[in-house]
Amino acid sequence: MKAQSFPSLFRFTDRKFDTEEECLAFIEEIKWHSGFTCRQCGHKKYCRGSRKGDRQCTRCRKIESIKAGTAFQGMRFPLVKAFFMIRMLVTDKKSCPSTLLAKYTGLSQKTAWLFHMKVMHVMKDLLATLEDDVHLVNATIHQLIHQKDGKKNKVMATYVVGVEKKGKGAAKIFARNITRKTISGLKAVTTNYIDTQASLKACAPLKKIISKHQSCHEKIDQSLCSRVSRVMRESIYGRYGRVMYLDEYLAEHCYRHNHHLEKENITEKFCYSFIKHRPAPYKLLIGQF
Ligand SMILES: [Zn+2]
Repeated sequence: MKAQSFPSLFRFTDRKFDTEEECLAFIEEIKWHSGFTCRQCGHKKYCRGSRKGDRQCTRCRKIESIKAGTAFQGMRFPLVKAFFMIRMLVTDKKSCPSTLLAKYTGLSQKTAWLFHMKVMHVMKDLLATLEDDVHLVNATIHQLIHQKDGKKNKVMATYVVGVEKKGKGAAKIFARNITRKTISGLKAVTTNYIDTQASLKACAPLKKIISKHQSCHEKIDQSLCSRVSRVMRESIYGRYGRVMYLDEYLAEHCYRHNHHLEKENITEKFCYSFIKHRPAPYKLLIGQF
């Protein structure tokens, strides 16, 4: 089972991120919680660098910034603004448009939009593992794909929607774009996002492929799966109008669904994942910049 556990030693409750110092202290606590190790030479001793939060190895003199090696790496605006945007994006029910994020933080709309992309990128790695009673269906949506000549091409994209049924509802969901309904594509989905002990049911076209490598039943709860898929599609169209970054939009929708009952410490927990996440340069996220 793949579940993200948060070390109990971190004080998530009532953390405040109102100042740059409070944000720095939080990152420092998580990034170096088992002590400092120089990434260049492995030395354990350090002295403070000239910028706040930086640490300098006392052997090879390499300076490591507080943001290095985390998803904050390369970010040029104050941490307090980043933490604020994370709070808005993970707690607001309908997500917060980048125009509003820009207005609140004083950043440009493009900067706020790029940061939102980064948040969604981290959400992609936080997709839940479904357990027990799992229902799998495929769905399609019109996606706009960037072409090399700058034009956009409209394609019909296929994605898989997974529902963990509990009672009459969906306890957890996941969705992932698959380029083709092939064994390898579906195997990646079932291996990464479905618990090995789960009872798996899939719609007929998917069952045909999945059955080749694992046991799978056909009796899915069609009305529940349709409802989850419909809400997902409507929410994406409602929020973005057109689908450019399908996997990111799907991940954001699933993250919200799976965490909507978590009232406490959701920002802190997401920031923890953000710090633990590898660097995600904007060029890599967006491609065409
Ligand atoms: Zn060193």
